[in-house]
Amino acid sequence: MSYPKTSRAAVVATYGEPIEIRELPVPAEHELEPGALLVRVDVASICGSDVHQWDGLVQALVPASLPIILGHEMMGTVVAFGPGPREDSIGQPLAEGDRLLWTHVYCGQCYECRVKHMPTMCRRKKQYMRTNCERFPYLVGGFAQYCYVFPPSGRVRIPDGVPDGVASAASCALRTIIHAFDRVGRIEPHERVVIQGAGPLGLFAVAMAADAGVRDLVVVGGPAPRLALAQRWGARAVVSVDELPTAEGRLARVRELTDGTGADVVFELSGAPYAFAEGLDFLRPGGRYAVVGQLGGPLTPVQAALIVRKQATILGVQSADIGQFWKALEFVRRTGDRFDFEAMLTTRYPLARINEAIQSMRAFREIKPLVLPWGEEAR
Ligand SMILES: [Zn+2]
Ligand SMILES: [Zn+2]
Repeated sequence: MSYPKTSRAAVVATYGEPIEIRELPVPAEHELEPGALLVRVDVASICGSDVHQWDGLVQALVPASLPIILGHEMMGTVVAFGPGPREDSIGQPLAEGDRLLWTHVYCGQCYECRVKHMPTMCRRKKQYMRTNCERFPYLVGGFAQYCYVFPPSGRVRIPDGVPDGVASAASCALRTIIHAFDRVGRIEPHERVVIQGAGPLGLFAVAMAADAGVRDLVVVGGPAPRLALAQRWGARAVVSVDELPTAEGRLARVRELTDGTGADVVFELSGAPYAFAEGLDFLRPGGRYAVVGQLGGPLTPVQAALIVRKQATILGVQSADIGQFWKALEFVRRTGDRFDFEAMLTTRYPLARINEAIQSMRAFREIKPLVLPWGEEAR
């Protein structure tokens, strides 16, 4: 398949400054390393981490070498292969024209990868959106017309019937929720679940928990349209942070909704700095708490003795590996009739309007906006 020599890309040269659209070189076919792929990015969705990568919040914790191409939640079509087998990471054949999701780079050779079996903790990990775009292979982020898939990146073919935008949202938001459910372990049908946050992470978690069949499913978050979607997807009750602006008020309501005992499993998916302390309060004795949404921000006080008194299990969850990408795609393929995942997808922006898209996301006017690097030419 022939393709152009340059690609448009949304580049962050300075944190917090307007994103620039630049033309970057597209690696030629003979330059692709063994196991590498070149992918045409059809849809890239915006994740909360993109906003915080742009504004510099993440920089303190995960340093990146600027300039970078923003975007790490995307899907695309294979246009060229480096030398090597033409199959995905679960052994399915892969051909030019196939739709694809791919992971960050995990080396598969370090203590974290091999002994801990926690590839997302890989000490040699390389992440799209946090890799310098002035050096080969240049196209190392989602908000660009093409992306270079590094040889060690896990990759999985998108099944037919999964829409591009939903597949894109599966590549960060949903695969992370799958990872969180993997970490929490089996949730029994008699257990109660509280989800903090009604953004894309929270909504996907509602769908997962509703599909699993839990006793009670309560969502704490806002604004109202997102809570309505959560209810449509199976939340038994919602607690609006707009209607109940204090932690005490929300705790009283959650207690009421959980027979005075609290939840067996709580998911922190809001990213609000105060949410962790509040989530500990929502837990019943012996509960499990998956913390996913926190990215940085100010220190907040926590009553650490609650962890002892409740004998709580706290589980941090970061990103995901290829198995979770595959499970995410299977989940949306299997449950697409039950949950209208496309209701989560809000405005569609061409690449040239990336600054507007980021600002709109930042102002919580969007649930999951899409960036179309090819404009409406995308399928
Ligand atoms: Zn993300
Ligand atoms: Zn590793």
